Parts: sequence; structure tokens; C-alpha cells
Amino acid sequence: MATVNDNYLKLKAGYLFPEIARRVNAFAAANPDAKIIRLGIGDVTEPLPEACRTAMIKAVEEMGDRATFQGYGPEQGYAWLREKIAAHDFQARGCEVDASEIFISDGSKCDTGNILDIFGDNNAIAVTDPVYPVYVDTNVMAGHTGDANEAGEYEGLVYLPITAENNFTAELPTQKVDLIYLCFPNNPTGAVATRDHLKAWVEYAKANGSIIFFDAAYEAFITDPELPHSIYEIEGARDCAIEFRSFSKNAGFTGTRCALTVVPKTLTAKAADGSDVELWKLWNRRQTTKFNGVSYIVQRGAEAVYSDEGKAQTQALVSFYMENAKIIREQLTAAGIQVYGGVNAPYVWVKTPNNLSSWDFFDKLLHTVNVVGTPGSGFGAAGEGYFRISAFNSRENVEEAMRRITSKFTA
Ligand SMILES: *Cc1c(COP(=O)(O)O)cnc(C)c1O
Repeated sequence: MATVNDNYLKLKAGYLFPEIARRVNAFAAANPDAKIIRLGIGDVTEPLPEACRTAMIKAVEEMGDRATFQGYGPEQGYAWLREKIAAHDFQARGCEVDASEIFISDGSKCDTGNILDIFGDNNAIAVTDPVYPVYVDTNVMAGHTGDANEAGEYEGLVYLPITAENNFTAELPTQKVDLIYLCFPNNPTGAVATRDHLKAWVEYAKANGSIIFFDAAYEAFITDPELPHSIYEIEGARDCAIEFRSFSKNAGFTGTRCALTVVPKTLTAKAADGSDVELWKLWNRRQTTKFNGVSYIVQRGAEAVYSDEGKAQTQALVSFYMENAKIIREQLTAAGIQVYGGVNAPYVWVKTPNNLSSWDFFDKLLHTVNVVGTPGSGFGAAGEGYFRISAFNSRENVEEAMRRITSKFTA
């Protein structure tokens, strides 16, 4: 008799976005004339940069000619893309990352989950609370946790609360953990990590033999020149950190799919016999076995991000969303609502007015002004009392949503 992976049965089956959809659909059915504005989902809205489209169109033409046709590419990605990434994203910022340490993939979501393939099952794992749900659910699927409690916290995981009280930065755990997920600029809170904060984490990881999974999907949205964009800007990080990056948010590749993972060749972890094993070798083995690379066309599109036009066009996209974030922050603040984030990240983290619960505020916004956001409690117990508003939308929708909210919520 075939059996299933019972760990999947422990999952709080994707309750957040389906529940949002359920409530929005019910409201829309009862109020067919309501013009609902959705500021809830973390997906981009603006079209692909022209430089990327032009490069992909050219690549499609190349695929139609026997002389330039491309079959299977390297599983790790084409050297011309990896070299550009190494030079522009890392070496230009003083990070010692070599092109051979960069693995091109079809998404950071996938890689933050897949990376668990090369780690043991007995690691102590820390995540922030609130958290990007992928980090938690992939550990549940891999059997690294027990069951979830009422608040949705899984037995066996170490939760590090990020709240207004600690400035939305995860404090170092008091116990020893082996794997740590950090995401800065943060989804959902929009918080950032200073150089000193990351330094403390790198020191902790080195002292404890831990590995940091650093998700830098939103690094392009950093506006403060003092903030690090990569964990490899911190000395010693090559010995304790894997970094995930994506073209999804800076270049609008959510539907095009291209990302990268950096595994330094200096990084090791322990085998059962106590010996040190190079993680690069294991990840390379994993990728060459289970992955066949990102499409040639898409990698050409990603490469164009590093051309002069591509850089200007992606910067314009990022600036467009950050202007939305500024409008959201300013309008809500003027209405007397406490907001965080939105300065170096495309998310504004709102303290719900009058101590409403996250879901009560969700319902109130939906019913009174027909605006949809994301309840903070959906990202973890410590997100209760908060609400995420995304800057990924048209200017028109953002301005209209803010007009509606401030007209109802100003005293
Ligand atoms: C959007 C996002 C990513 C990017 O995922 P892709 O699979 O590359 O689209 C990664 N991490 C976080 C926290 C995100 O919000």
C-alpha cells in the first residue's frame, strides 16, 4: 500500500491567502458594485523592463536558427550571467563572491526550500516571527518539526519575534541553533538589518558552527546608503552564510522566473562522522541531479538587467514602487495610523488602529473602504495586531486606496 509523507498533514494548509480570497469573494458577491483595490499580494504589477524584453526576443530568434540554437545549458547557469552577477551585485560592493559560487535558479522560493536537501534532519532551526511562510512550511514537509499549536507555531522550531519592541530586528537566540533564516529587507515587516546587526549574526553563527540562510530578495529597494545589501559585506560571512537573490522584485520577473543562490566554496558543515564537508560540492551535486537549469531565453533577459539601459530601467521600476510606499506611509501617518517599513522595502507594516486584531482590521478595511491588505497574524503569532500593505500596485490604485482609508479613519 502506498503511503504519503505524513509531514504534509501537519501543515496549516495555506490558510492565509485562501482565507483572504474567501472573504474578498464573499464580499464581492454581496456587493457587486464595490471597486475593490488589492494591496495584499506580494506580486509586482508593472511590465518588464524594455532591455529585458529586447534581450529575450533576440534569444527567441537565436533559438529559431540552427547556428545559434541552444539545448541544455549548464545546470548552474550560463557563465556570462554568473560573471555579470558576481561583478555587479557582489564585487562592486566589495564582496568576495566568485562567479563559480553563484547558482542560477528559477526562484528564491524554490531554492530556500530546496536548500534543505543538503542539510541533516537534526539541526536546530530558527526563524523570525513574523516570517515568510516558505521557510517554515518546507521544514514541516521535511519532517523537521512536530505539530503546530493554536497560534500556528510548530514544535521544534525556534521563533525569534520581530516586533516594535526590538525595532523589528531578530535578537540572537539564547540557545544554540544550527540553521537560521534571515530576510532583510524583510517581508512582511519592511524592516532592515544594519551592518552591526548582521555582524552580530555572523559572529553568532561562526561561534556556534551555524549556517545563516540570508534572503536578500528585496535588496534593490534599499535606499539608505549605510545599509548592507549582501551578507557578504560582513567579514566572515563566507564561512557561515548562503545568500538567496531574485530578479522577481527588482526587475519584475515574478512571472518570468530567474533567481540565484550563492554558496561560497569556503562554507562547510559537519558529516555524521564529524568531518567537515564543503556545502558547495553538495549543492552542486544536488542541482546537477535534480535541476536542469533556467531557460536560455530567461537568462538572457536577466543578463540585460546589468546593461546600462537595464540598470536604469530596473532602478526606475524600484523607484516607482518606492514612491508608492512613500505615499502609503505618509497618508497613513497623517491619518494618525502608526506605520513601519516602506523606506527600504516595498512593504508598509501597519499597527492596527484601536488595537484591532489583524483579521478585524482586514474586515473593517474591506467592508468600509473596499481595500484588501494582508493580516499580520498570517505571517506568525507575533504579527498579530499588524497589517501588511504592499506598494506593488499602480499609482492610481495606491492613491485611491489611501484616499479612501484616510477619509474613513481620520478622527
Ligand atoms: C518574493 C520573494 C522571494 C522571491 O521568490 P521567487 O521565487 O524568486 O519569485 C523570495 N523571498 C521572499 C521573502 C519574497 O517575498
